[in-house]
Amino acid sequence: MFFIIQQKISVHSVCSVVRGLPGTCMKYLFGPVNSRRLGLSLGIDIIPNKICSYNCIYCEVGPNTDQTCERREYVPVMDVLAEIDLLLTDKEAVDRLDVFTITASGEPTLHSGIGNIIRHIREKSGKPVAVLTNGSLLHIGEVRQDLMAADIIIPSLDSARDESFRKINRPAACVALEDIIKGMKDFNREFKGNLWLEILLAKGINDSAEDIEALVEATHSIQPERIQLNTVVRPPLESFAVPLARDELEHIAGYFHGNVEIIADFTTKKQKHFRYANQNDILDMIQRRPCTADDIAQALNLDPSHVAATLKELTKSGRLTVTGHDGKFFYQKENNDRKQN
Ligand code: SF4
Repeated sequence: MFFIIQQKISVHSVCSVVRGLPGTCMKYLFGPVNSRRLGLSLGIDIIPNKICSYNCIYCEVGPNTDQTCERREYVPVMDVLAEIDLLLTDKEAVDRLDVFTITASGEPTLHSGIGNIIRHIREKSGKPVAVLTNGSLLHIGEVRQDLMAADIIIPSLDSARDESFRKINRPAACVALEDIIKGMKDFNREFKGNLWLEILLAKGINDSAEDIEALVEATHSIQPERIQLNTVVRPPLESFAVPLARDELEHIAGYFHGNVEIIADFTTKKQKHFRYANQNDILDMIQRRPCTADDIAQALNLDPSHVAATLKELTKSGRLTVTGHDGKFFYQKENNDRKQN
């Protein structure tokens, strides 16, 4: 899953421009981006501030604005649907998409209108809908019902032991680990789509032999179609959130049954057919989460040298800052209030 508000430049004050509808300001839609897992994905951010039931040590969005389990209409459903309908008028742009991905700068299932939004996209576009969630509300019947209409659900389960669960996800008091695991199990028993379970491991926090054993047992009971192992590959909220090496993840992957993959990006990918993008496209992507130059070039299919030159210019003019993490340089906005997943 995976974005706060310290000093606020919220998405409401920074219009993003959905490519395909040049010049159109969007508050909730962003992209499309080339997602490694999902293909060409149009993102929909239904909680622009970081309101979440967790406060993960590896969160790339920053500190919570609010930590809660309260479900409500955080942004008007009608406004989100209006933007979706506007996008759908550009048939050519929509045809190119592989998927609509519902996410949030916090936790998207906190939005009480998520079911309506999923159903609207499915009915009007015919395209698959994916949801990135921390999975903490899946024990609630209404949430399970809302998500049934989606095609792909990607929940997180970073630990199946209470001690390490509290260390890595730092959940709100309203969250209980056993409810989450049961909720995922119950959901997947009825769900007709694909459930891909993401597990993010941080060194010395949730990667002990006991932790892995408990996770193997939990995944066996949940029966996800895929198990996706990840680590702290982006600048984390806490400096003690340290990544595992690829060979450590590979070793751990060997303990899990079924379809297990490592999704942590340790490589630099090459793009061949580049498109033109302006500074706003790049700023819009960085507004949502800290990114490396490679992330931007790959997601927006841009010439890496063009990205490097643009980033240099934006950094020099003070619009971006650079942070080092795990041997990579991440660009972010000074007052960034947004996230990943
Ligand atoms: S990583 Fe996701 S689940 Fe964890 S605190 Fe950040 S937004 Fe919430």
